[in-house]
This record gives sequence, C-alpha cells and structure tokens, in this order.
Amino acid sequence: MRSLSEIDRDIIRLANTPGFARWLEQIHDVGGCANPIYLSGWTRTLDPATGEALLSYTTADEPGERLAVRCGNRRASRCAPCSRLYQGDTFHLVRSGLSGGKGIPDTVAGHPRLFVTLTAPSFGPVHRSAPEQSEEPCRPRRDARCCEHGARLGCGLVHAQDDPVVGTPLCPSCYDYTGHVLWHAHAGRLWDRFTTAVRRDLAQVLGLARARLRDHLVVSFAKVAEYQRRGAIHFHAVVRLDGPEGPRSAPPPWVLPGLLEECIRRAAAQVYVDTKELDAYGCYRLRWGEQLDARPIRAFGDTGETLRDDAVAGYVAKYVTKSAEVAGAVDYPIPSAANIPYLPVSTHVRALVGTCWRLGGLPELEPLRLRAWAHMLGYRGHCLTKSRAYSTTYGQLRAVRAAHRTGPPLTDSQTVTESAWRYVGHGYTPGEAELAAGIAETITLNREIAREELARERQGGRNGATP
Ligand SMILES: [Zn+2]
Ligand SMILES: [Zn+2]
Ligand SMILES: [Zn+2]
Repeated sequence: MRSLSEIDRDIIRLANTPGFARWLEQIHDVGGCANPIYLSGWTRTLDPATGEALLSYTTADEPGERLAVRCGNRRASRCAPCSRLYQGDTFHLVRSGLSGGKGIPDTVAGHPRLFVTLTAPSFGPVHRSAPEQSEEPCRPRRDARCCEHGARLGCGLVHAQDDPVVGTPLCPSCYDYTGHVLWHAHAGRLWDRFTTAVRRDLAQVLGLARARLRDHLVVSFAKVAEYQRRGAIHFHAVVRLDGPEGPRSAPPPWVLPGLLEECIRRAAAQVYVDTKELDAYGCYRLRWGEQLDARPIRAFGDTGETLRDDAVAGYVAKYVTKSAEVAGAVDYPIPSAANIPYLPVSTHVRALVGTCWRLGGLPELEPLRLRAWAHMLGYRGHCLTKSRAYSTTYGQLRAVRAAHRTGPPLTDSQTVTESAWRYVGHGYTPGEAELAAGIAETITLNREIAREELARERQGGRNGATP
C-alpha cells in the first residue's frame, strides 16, 4: 500500500477539523487565493435614531474565529486567482476609456484614439529570435570581426523564440549596464516629460497658448510597462483626445485626424532626461528608443487596418499581471548583495541586478532607491498609470464589486458603520494549499464553460435571426 504523503495526512486532519465546510466556503469566496490574509473582528451597521443594529457580522462564529480575505496580488507568479481579478479590472478600466461604460459615455469611441508603444534605446546588441516561421539569422555579418573583448560582433545562428540566449548581449563587457539601469530608473520621468511635450506640441500646432489648450481639448493616457526579453521595458499606452469637458465632449472639429500621431512622434523624438553628474560616469542623457509604434484604434464595427478597442484592452490587461519575471528576474525584493550570486537568474539579469546594487550605493543616486527596486531591474513605476480624465479607477471598480457582494447600502448616509479588524495570519498549510488550488481550478473551469455557453448562445441567436 502506498504510504500517505504529508499533504494527504494534512488534508485528512483538516477534514476532521470542526468548521471545515465553512473554511472551504471562505476559500471559495476569495476565489481560491494562493495566499489569503486572515482577519479577526466585527462590523456593525446601526440606525443612529434607534441604535438598533441593522446589519452585523463577527468572526466569532467562523472556524478559528477568523475570515480569509484575498491577498490581492496582481502578479500571476504570486497568486493566479487574484491576478486574474486584477487583469479583469484592468480590462474594464482600459476598455471603458475606449468604448465607454463604467461612467464614461460611449461617444468616446468616436474620439481620436491611438495605441502607442514607446521603447527603450539600445544598450548594446543582443541575440534576437527569428520571427515566427522564418529562418532569419540573429545578426549576420560578412566579416568575423571581434570587439576588444574578443567577442564576435555578429551572430549567424537562428534562435528559436524560447532559446535562453535570446535577449542576452553579444558581449556582456560592451553592454551598457549602467545606461540600462539608469534608463529604467528615469523611465517614469521620461514618460512625464513626453506627455507634457505632446500637450505643448499640440498647443503650438493649433496656435494656442499652452495654458489655453485645456479650454479646447484634453489629452488623456493610460499606460502599462512590459518587460522585454533583454530586460528592458516598453511602454504601451492608449492616448485619447477629448473636448474641453473630457470624455463627455468631442474634440473641436478643427483638430484634424492624424494630428495627434504627428505630435506624439515629434514629442517622443524631442524629450530627454539628464541624469545627475556622476563621478565615475559623467552625465547620461536618456531618450526613447528609435522604435515607435502609433496606431489608430477603431471602434467595434469599424473595419480597416487598425486595432480594435477590445483587443487593445485585452493586450494592456495581460501585461499588468506580469512583471520583470518575464525577463527572467525574480518577483521579490532582494534583501542583500550576498543574495545576488545565488539568485535563480541568467548571467545577464544577474548583471543588471548587480548594477542596480552598485549604483544604488552611490550617494548621488540615493533618491532612485535602486537597491529596493533591483528585482525590477531599476524600474520603480506602477505597472499601470493613467491620467485622471481617462476612465474609472481600480478603487471604484472594487467598490462596485463589494457592493455587489454585500447588497446595496442599507440607506444612504443615514446609517453608522462601526468595525474593528486585526490581522491574525496568512497563507496555508500544505493540505490547505492543495485544496485551495483545486478550488481555484474549479472556478476557472466553470468560468470557461460559462463563457463558451454564452458564445454558443450568441452564435445560435445570430444564426436564428438569419432567414
Ligand atoms: Zn490572492
Ligand atoms: Zn545570436
Ligand atoms: Zn566587447
């Protein structure tokens, strides 16, 4: 007979614990979160006139006198169920800014909208994978010249997409690791300068004073950072042009189509950030890479060589659940320099992390907090940022979801809610983790089945309508 594993024994123990069924229910309610937080406490909603409790809840009756809540981590590598929720919120947030909904009128779909990709510059040649279904060599050269370190300047090999060499430098000694890390550390500021420059350029072309631009039109952005294989980020951004009232108003008719794209291209080429004067390196002037993509987004139903708003929202949402781990970095802060040699990463990523650590020790770069952000390879921006006018917020989406779960608020501001909560722990025993993973899997499966059924119904409805 097979002996019971530690997990099996733990599951048997759990199943015999009082309140096991309720615990399973709790884990189901948090979507099978991989690392739930346990809270202990109570909440009461009172009628201020009578002092009567209209609604009350306490964890006193819960198993272990505690309640599981979601960890809320956006990273799929940390918690798949919570990252899916975050991905869904991002999708709605981006899509409502493109096609309306969640408090944004659907007339925004008629405003000029672009999907823009801004890249990091080159910090030295890296190995490239062949485009799909092609046998294109990496970096072919006729000669066999080498750099001063004896590394070949070209590479005639054909690399598959998943070849671990892809994204790594041809010569690590020639690669500008300092420039790469400094660029990451200033990418947020470069983005801010870019958005300012777009508005300034628009004002100039339209013959308006910069301060008067807002009286005629509003430019709003939603952007997400994506790590490429070489460990450098890209920014993908949705840019929208509105009239003076924001999403509620159309831009004036004298704003010609194509103008936004022109201004974006000019602004991207012009802006730069100068780093502080560094003793060992001088001053770095940081700019965008030459690759710039700007494509109009078409509304649902339009045709042509443009992107559809659903596709753009899905694309952006995909990136918020991923981070530097896509480039082979780790998804946790690095506690000390002593850990760097033992990180499960490539030589290239280790060099980037090491550069963050080294530069992070320079007093003049202290504000960049490069050591705290070494696992992000120096980039410390939020994964998704947007201008206020763009659309709804994560907070509003969460509030709607919470209201949906607990029912509508009892009466408006006529009630008083009192509560007291404290943290009592987090995470799972091995058996609990196994059960939670099963719950998460079931939820995903059910959702997929529901989606397929919905698609089939729609398909059926359409076919039924055809005579
Ligand atoms: Zn979670
Ligand atoms: Zn190569
Ligand atoms: Zn070299």
